[in-house]
Amino acid sequence: MNDILPSDSPMWQYLESQVKAVLNQYGYREVRMPIVEVTELFARGVGEHTDIVEKEMYTFRDRNDDSLTLRPEGTAGCVRAALQHGLLHNQVQRLWYQGPMFRYERPQKGRYRQFYQIGVETFGMAGADIDAELILLTHRLFRQLGISDSLTLHLNTLGSAEARSRYRKALVDYLEGVKDQLDEDSQRRLYVNPLRILDSKSASTQALLNDAPRFEDYIDNESKAHFEELCRLLDENGLPYVVNPRLVRGLDYYTKTVFEWMTDALGAQGTVCGGGRYDGLVPMLGGKETPASGFAMGMERLLLLLQTLDVIPESIYQTVDVYLVAAGELATRKAMALAEQVRTDCEGVRLQLNCGGGSFKSQMKKADKSGARFALILGDDEAAESRVQIKDLQGNHEQQSVSWAEVAEVLTRLGL
Ligand code: ATP
Ligand code: MG
Repeated sequence: MNDILPSDSPMWQYLESQVKAVLNQYGYREVRMPIVEVTELFARGVGEHTDIVEKEMYTFRDRNDDSLTLRPEGTAGCVRAALQHGLLHNQVQRLWYQGPMFRYERPQKGRYRQFYQIGVETFGMAGADIDAELILLTHRLFRQLGISDSLTLHLNTLGSAEARSRYRKALVDYLEGVKDQLDEDSQRRLYVNPLRILDSKSASTQALLNDAPRFEDYIDNESKAHFEELCRLLDENGLPYVVNPRLVRGLDYYTKTVFEWMTDALGAQGTVCGGGRYDGLVPMLGGKETPASGFAMGMERLLLLLQTLDVIPESIYQTVDVYLVAAGELATRKAMALAEQVRTDCEGVRLQLNCGGGSFKSQMKKADKSGARFALILGDDEAAESRVQIKDLQGNHEQQSVSWAEVAEVLTRLGL
């Protein structure tokens, strides 16, 4: 679990504001859920035999002996909230959330025990159009961030629950015959979560899968048509993708569409965004049949990618525009009132007042270090006349003396 220090928080805020701007463009609305839910929700909603539920959850008993869990993902809680507050009654919802998720994993680059996701969930829309919208939305975001050239969209369909269970049986029949040659993890998964074997990281297991039954021979017609429509919409919007029949995703609740945005630039932790359709989840959590589709993005991985590709604008790290220096006793007494006046008059200005005194020279050093573009320099003479000097710290505008009332206007004229 990491601290996010002030030197890094500008890039977090930058990324978050870019994501929010795109979500607003598509008319998505924010929902904020608690970070703790009853354990049962995740056992049912994520799936007993997923990695998350089997070995990654932070679970504890509260004083009432209820079993609670720090949320490992947002979808189950979002569905719980939507059901609890009646948001799914004959309605269409486009929702998003952000915040920390918790998984007890082996920490490494791009994998942490507290990590941040921005997630999107939609309800009430069964067609491929909303799946395509979700993908186009993420692509627009990645384009705006300047990382789309380093990301590949992997796409697959998992079909209906029935088709999947028929395929699952055929896959298990085949894999039982080669069980001894499977890697250890896959042997364990054979009876609890065999589809996960498809995305095994073991090369020998992958080789065995070349002769395994293929899902395309088991898919139901409706899912097939849905997938074709999704591909058509992506084609029509000029978005390239790779159909990857071994993409299954870690969670049990997916049906039909699954997708991941992957990069080669981050080593093993290459998936920055994953999602898909989960028509089965709402009924599983006690609601009526409700089509649903969504995705979640890992913020740390996105930030690592932005840093690796060096596409974060330098300007976001500038957090102070104006630094107010006060030299002399009267000046020091009046400086705060000037600072307040400039903040009132000059909308959006980020003004830092020198607090704690210090010589003129040391205050000017702090002004430089703050990154401010301008220093306001208040001496006793200026303070007595309600005037102040404006000094350009980064350009070559001449230093000038202005009245307090003019400060905002002059700063604006100088391009602030
Ligand atoms: P992985 O296969 O890498 O473990 P996952 O399938 O468990 O990923 P999801 O549950 O789909 O991941 O979560 C969506 C996204 O959240 C991932 O694509 C990834 O970017 C991010 N993510 C997941 N787990 C972590 C983690 N422990 N630390 C940082 N980011 C994570
Ligand atoms: Mg995982």
